[in-house]
Amino acid sequence: MNIDIIGAGIGGLTTAIALEQKGIKTRIFEQAEQIKEVGAGIILANNAMQVYDKLGLRKIIEENGNPISSMNITKSNLKPLSKIDLSYFEQKHNTKNIAIHRGKLQKILIDKLKPTEINLNNKLTSIVKSENGYELNFENGKQIQSSTVIGADGLNSVVRQKLFPNNSIRNANQICWRGVTEYELPINFRNELNEAWGKAERFGFVQIAENKVYWYALKSFKKNANEFSINNIEQYFGDYNLVIKDIIKSTKKEHINTAEISDLKPTDIWFKDNVCLIGDSAHATTPNIGQGACQAIEDAFVLSECLHKYEITKAFSEYQKLRLPKAHQVVKASWLVGKMAHLKNPILIGLRNQMLRLTPTSVNRKQNDLIFQLAEI
Ligand SMILES: Cc1cc2nc3c(=O)[nH]c(=O)nc-3n(C[C@H](O)[C@H](O)[C@H](O)COP(=O)(O)OP(=O)(O)OC[C@H]3O[C@@H](n4cnc5c(N)ncnc54)[C@H](O)[C@@H]3O)c2cc1C
Repeated sequence: MNIDIIGAGIGGLTTAIALEQKGIKTRIFEQAEQIKEVGAGIILANNAMQVYDKLGLRKIIEENGNPISSMNITKSNLKPLSKIDLSYFEQKHNTKNIAIHRGKLQKILIDKLKPTEINLNNKLTSIVKSENGYELNFENGKQIQSSTVIGADGLNSVVRQKLFPNNSIRNANQICWRGVTEYELPINFRNELNEAWGKAERFGFVQIAENKVYWYALKSFKKNANEFSINNIEQYFGDYNLVIKDIIKSTKKEHINTAEISDLKPTDIWFKDNVCLIGDSAHATTPNIGQGACQAIEDAFVLSECLHKYEITKAFSEYQKLRLPKAHQVVKASWLVGKMAHLKNPILIGLRNQMLRLTPTSVNRKQNDLIFQLAEI
């Protein structure tokens, strides 16, 4: 069986690794001229690390990243409102949550894939059913025939737009800045993710390697993202804890990445005949619970198991059955957390903070238990 994968993001690369390990040959087609290092970090939660453990990548990811044993929501002065202790899940699944530079993760995945064909500078423009499967056309004029296609081409997926047109992208009306900086965090923050919630804004930071900190900051906008400028970022977070102000100050402005936050309104059809969607192309989520890539990584694992076990149509149908409910749950929970984090009304903020303080550990644990549990196949 040969499978063509559109997109060499975390989802596409992990799927190719998982399929190759099952003896299924893949070719990847990626629009970018080169796989560029994104100047940001990523948190690979326990569920993603369980998959990378199965794929033989856990050790190298751990060596290149930094373990995170607690996820905290705090006030702008970094006083905790809620703390999720991850050590329970570390013991339960024998894997840690790892924060890592995206560039390092990409390199680890690509190195593992050698000698799989990664065709760069191949932007898919159309996919049409043909006599022998599918005809794929690329912007560079190339045309290929393919028997089976996996669309791993992200939020604005061409595969999805061409074959599954009934879906919509939702703008969360939040602008997000991301940066990586050389910074020596106080020792108590080194194995924690801290996210400080303010008024319609928040700031998160985490160590990704020795003296390297990845941070992200979000603000709600009314009409469009131009209401805010990167030049004023220090001012926006001027009344936050000194550590946060120092992190921003230590980052070169030209290295800060700016994006608007969107997701895909949950959609119930992820496959049609011999074409299937994975990752953000199937279920893009807002980043509020740090699960977008983790869900793409789970897709890769489940889909490869299904393709190993069943013929194509049954494999795609089983994959959707196993993955869709959880992926949608993540999209919905994440959207809600985004709304809660960006409340503006001081009374509602006070109530929310009180609720966060009073939520029992057992409730937080139960929610994360569901997210960190992989599907049984
Ligand atoms: C601010 C922010 C923070 C985040 N933090 C986390 C986190 O801590 N943990 C986490 O798990 N997730 C996080 N996420 C989510 C995560 O980044 C995504 O869910 C994940 O990258 C999705 O992977 P993917 O491979 O499905 O899609 P993508 O990463 O979007 O990859 C798609 C690939 O397809 C290529 N492509 C697109 N169109 C075409 C085409 N027509 N032809 C050929 N190639 C094409 C693209 O160039 C790209 O390489 C975050 C997201 C944001 C925005």
